[in-house]
Amino acid sequence: MNQLVRKSVRQLTPYEAKGPKAEIKLDANENTRASLLLNQKIGRALTEVPVNQYPDAEAQQLRKALGKEMGVNPEKIIVGCGSDQLIAMILQAFIEPGDKILTQSPTFSMYGISNQIAGGTTVAVPLGEKFQFNICTFLRAISEQSPKVVFLTNPNNPTGGMIPREQIIKIIEFARVPVVVDEAYFEFCGETVLDLVGLYPNLIVIRTLSKAYGLAGARIGYGVTSKEMIDILKRVKPPYNVSSLDQRAALVCLENRGMLEGTIKAIVTERERLMASLKEIETLEVFKSFGNFILFKLADAKGLHQYLLENKLLIRHFGDQGSLDGCLRVTVGTEEENNIFLGLLCQYLGIAANPSIGKENEATGYYYPASSK
Ligand code: PMP
Repeated sequence: MNQLVRKSVRQLTPYEAKGPKAEIKLDANENTRASLLLNQKIGRALTEVPVNQYPDAEAQQLRKALGKEMGVNPEKIIVGCGSDQLIAMILQAFIEPGDKILTQSPTFSMYGISNQIAGGTTVAVPLGEKFQFNICTFLRAISEQSPKVVFLTNPNNPTGGMIPREQIIKIIEFARVPVVVDEAYFEFCGETVLDLVGLYPNLIVIRTLSKAYGLAGARIGYGVTSKEMIDILKRVKPPYNVSSLDQRAALVCLENRGMLEGTIKAIVTERERLMASLKEIETLEVFKSFGNFILFKLADAKGLHQYLLENKLLIRHFGDQGSLDGCLRVTVGTEEENNIFLGLLCQYLGIAANPSIGKENEATGYYYPASSK
């Protein structure tokens, strides 16, 4: 049977999303402050959904609500079953076998995986030693490789770094092919290029409700782009790609946006405290993050990962190959979860618990916009 499978798919191994069981899960950049009240509201709303009927293929109400939230015309919005599906749709629409896409390395793995399924080749421009983005190297790669699609991730997962807005503009203007700016973690930094969608028809901003909105289980992602691009993406969109249950859950979540604001602020405050605590440990190299996670490097990443797991706490280990060798990524959890993580980390390293653990530090570098535009 395997020899009948398309060559590009034959070489793939299934995406391992199922980590080992743990009581504290800080491995997938979810919002660990799920609100029981919001869950109850969603539960009540779901009882009214006519599940015997197909969902609204256009997700009209949801696009209207998203449009209102961002101040964007709903006709410029497309909804996907997670932003993962939008990534796959973009590649299905633009990639012929053998075509190239350009990304950075390290970055979110699904660009490369979906591109391989589409039959494309992924060219990843390495980030610097401290995972900094270099615009000159990137522009040179565009002219040398002639990619059909460019993927930028802002903030980048798993490094947490940002590409300055002027550099994104340079790339959009220079590439003249679809440029995807993945803003999955936008709410934790407030920087966006959404306002440039009207200026550049080749710009696609993708976002998700899986992170700040705490709705990873419902699988809702959305893209904001030109009407021309929307028309193209609609050609490859499966008609009923977002279930009516997920659409309703997302609507309830957006209607209760106010309830989330506090949790987003708390995550950003905790990120800065966790970052400060990690930085005090001399044997760690900590990378500045604008997302809801922190990447850090140490001599024995595998050992620490295993030790945490034995203590029922899961963070993300990327294996011991490539530029992420020695790196671990921890999701910013609640104050309690972060303290347990820090305590175990200090125990493993054989150092006294960090004095700032459990104390509220002043948040630094926090920026959250009044409107999410
Ligand atoms: N983009 C980035 C940068 C991500 O980190 C993730 C999830 N880890 C996604 C997209 C996909 O998110 P979802 O499919 O849940 O919307």
